[in-house]
Amino acid sequence: MAEHRLNGTIDSHTVLYGVIGDPIRHSKSPIMMNRAFRETGINGVYTAFHITSETLPAFVDGVRAMGMRGVNVTIPHKLQVMELVDEIDPGALAIGAVNTIVNENGKLTGYNTDGIGYVRSLKEEAESGLAGKRIVVIGAGGASRGIVYSLLKEKPESVAISNRTVERAEQLADSLGGEAAGLTAIPNEKLEQWCGDADIVINTTSVGMFPNVGQSPIEGSWMKPGAVASDLIYNPLKTEFLLRAEARGCRIHGGLGMFIYQGAYAFEYWTGQAAPVSAMRETVLEALQA
Ligand code: NAP
Repeated sequence: MAEHRLNGTIDSHTVLYGVIGDPIRHSKSPIMMNRAFRETGINGVYTAFHITSETLPAFVDGVRAMGMRGVNVTIPHKLQVMELVDEIDPGALAIGAVNTIVNENGKLTGYNTDGIGYVRSLKEEAESGLAGKRIVVIGAGGASRGIVYSLLKEKPESVAISNRTVERAEQLADSLGGEAAGLTAIPNEKLEQWCGDADIVINTTSVGMFPNVGQSPIEGSWMKPGAVASDLIYNPLKTEFLLRAEARGCRIHGGLGMFIYQGAYAFEYWTGQAAPVSAMRETVLEALQA
């Protein structure tokens, strides 16, 4: 159980947490996580470290030496760090990426909270029941992998993956169980038809992300009115894809919730306490709109 902070001060009991990446100075994780520590009174402090591939092994030694309790890992270290921790959670192993490290008395365990964070956000903010749903995932990059893995646990009727580079969609579908698991890779010319039949369409590509805010991976008219359009992007908060889907009469779900909940799961793994999700969201929203 994490120790509580007296009078909000950093003292000789304060435990260190942080996020590593290259680049890292754009990260909103420190303001979000420090708000969570303040809100719960836990005696922790969270900062950002610019770590390169060369300095990653020394950083991980430093985590053990300094007794850092928790680390978030972002681009480009999610794969390389897997070789440096002591144990990997089965979910992170299946996804093939670690974004959260928990330090238990010097033993480091790697987890992946991106996929479960996304699904928790989708269920709480857009569609509470995913069982039996027809889902289309556009994109087959790193984020897509975690999301598809976590979506399959919800027992949807089908998950169809489309990607600009079709071979990557096929590889992703095969590696997570293929047709037997309800997973299909679809050719690009069939995307319109699959979107028209889908209950949920998820954009996991970077198409539409700042500064290319006018771009969308599909036309709004491809969507079924009433279906859910979901985008992993949170800058802008409402992407061109979501604007078009909204005009079509779809329910829309942006990427901010995924960011909040991947952090909420990490916080819960580290501290054993429920994350103050609404305070975390409020802080990140303020920072994005500043
Ligand atoms: P990634 O591994 O680099 O994958 C990028 C994906 O986008 C690939 O499927 C790629 O297709 C596709 N793509 C890129 N440019 C494209 C274009 N012009 N036309 C069509 N497809 C294109 O990146 P990632 O880590 O998965 O991240 C993907 C997106 O998710 C980013 O926008 C990122 O900000 C967002 N994200 C959000 C959160 C969150 O917390 N909300 C977390 C993680 C990621 P190819 O395979 O053909 O190159």
